[in-house]
Amino acid sequence: MIRFLVFLIAVYLIYYLIKNSIKGRTARNTYQSPPVHKEKKSDVVNTHLKEIAYVYYSAAKDGDTCDVCKALDGRHLLPNHKMLHDIKPPHAGCKSPEGCRCTLVYVTRDEEDSGEIEYLLKRHGGMCDRRTIERGLA
Ligand SMILES: [Zn+2]
Repeated sequence: MIRFLVFLIAVYLIYYLIKNSIKGRTARNTYQSPPVHKEKKSDVVNTHLKEIAYVYYSAAKDGDTCDVCKALDGRHLLPNHKMLHDIKPPHAGCKSPEGCRCTLVYVTRDEEDSGEIEYLLKRHGGMCDRRTIERGLA
């Protein structure tokens, strides 16, 4: 009888240990993997933003381009400027019969003159028209 009890206890202990190790493994897995994923994602986003030196507005500049688009053409901004969201094309008031064909061009820091233009923008509060940029680079 005692032998039987010892046997039962041993079986129960083994069962308990196996159950715990499985639980521990799954718990560790679900606990560890999401933060690793998040870290990687935010790293990608951060390096992306760091690589952008400036953004400029580019209109189609043909006979159909409306005055508002023409006026915005060549506007340079820092990538974190609050106006960037407001002037983001296509803008609703565009009078071009073909619709707004403007784009924002994102220039990375490895482009020629991007450092100078970024510096110029910082000195002018983050936003400049094309003339100011051209004068600043001359
Ligand atoms: Zn437009």
